[in-house]
Amino acid sequence: MQNDLIDLHTHSTCSDGSDAPGQLIRLAAQAGARAIALTDHDTIDGLAEARQAAAREGIEFINGIEVSAEYSPGTMHILGYYIDPQSETLAAQLEMLLNARDRRNPEIASRLQSLGVEIDYSEVEEIAGGEVVGRPHFARLLLQKGYVESIQNAFDRYLAKGAAAYVEKARLVPQDAIDLIHKAGGAAVLAHPYQLKCKSQEEADAVFDQLAALGLDGVEAVYSRHSPQDRERYASMATSRGMIVTGGSDYHGTYKPDIRLVTGKGDLSVSYSLLDGIKERARAAAISRRSGD
Ligand code: AMP
Ligand code: ZN
Ligand code: FE
Ligand code: FE
Repeated sequence: MQNDLIDLHTHSTCSDGSDAPGQLIRLAAQAGARAIALTDHDTIDGLAEARQAAAREGIEFINGIEVSAEYSPGTMHILGYYIDPQSETLAAQLEMLLNARDRRNPEIASRLQSLGVEIDYSEVEEIAGGEVVGRPHFARLLLQKGYVESIQNAFDRYLAKGAAAYVEKARLVPQDAIDLIHKAGGAAVLAHPYQLKCKSQEEADAVFDQLAALGLDGVEAVYSRHSPQDRERYASMATSRGMIVTGGSDYHGTYKPDIRLVTGKGDLSVSYSLLDGIKERARAAAISRRSGD
């Protein structure tokens, strides 16, 4: 029987994962994945290499991306699937987001310095090794220098929202994040809804209502850090609003050592059949893009 498992949320060295795109695809093939999406933060630079590797390995590849949206007090990330890497709108917005990171990151470095941490921003850039520098790279440096015991510890003590060295970054408002993905011909999906940190079911319902009204296509209900109950709850909150259900691990290699590709924390199971709905939504976005809606 052909393996039916897929992973629709992964990060490579092009953002804050530890495996190069081709290596990530080889690992996915070894893990028995039938299809995989690469969803780096704010960049599509890894897609070409990943696509070539997927062709060699005989697995299906989906162009993806993850962008951050303005939201408080929790975190809102929007995933895009089947985006067109040639989209000029996408290129322009991604450049803007990278510029915002270039302003934010040195500020994080100087906050850390003022907290007594001896680091130079160039060391962080060296660890990142690419154009997208993110907080996990700071966390890795803090770990290497012995300031913290783990990546998670670095977030808890210094880098998490609200912690001492946290600096806000410019983000798209949710409507713009969703529109951007649609303009690039892709389907827009809310990543890891637990990170919205909603305090009640009413609050979560209200956010889902708003996102559905903005044209969100789907919700990543099947996620490594969701309990089985949360997976069911988010799935029914999505489908009752006409949105599709998706899933993924959010694999970052050694930056999230407890998360495995495809299997997450061991119990993740994202079925290939979920791709049907995503393909349908992306087709609709591509058609309305061509007709200039
Ligand atoms: P950035 O895009 O630079 O804001 O960094 C986002 C990355 O940091 C994502 O990969 C998140 O998984 C990770 N991250 C954000 N907040 C936390 C946290 N509180 N604990 C662990 N990782 C986090
Ligand atoms: Zn990340
Ligand atoms: Fe995310
Ligand atoms: Fe992610």
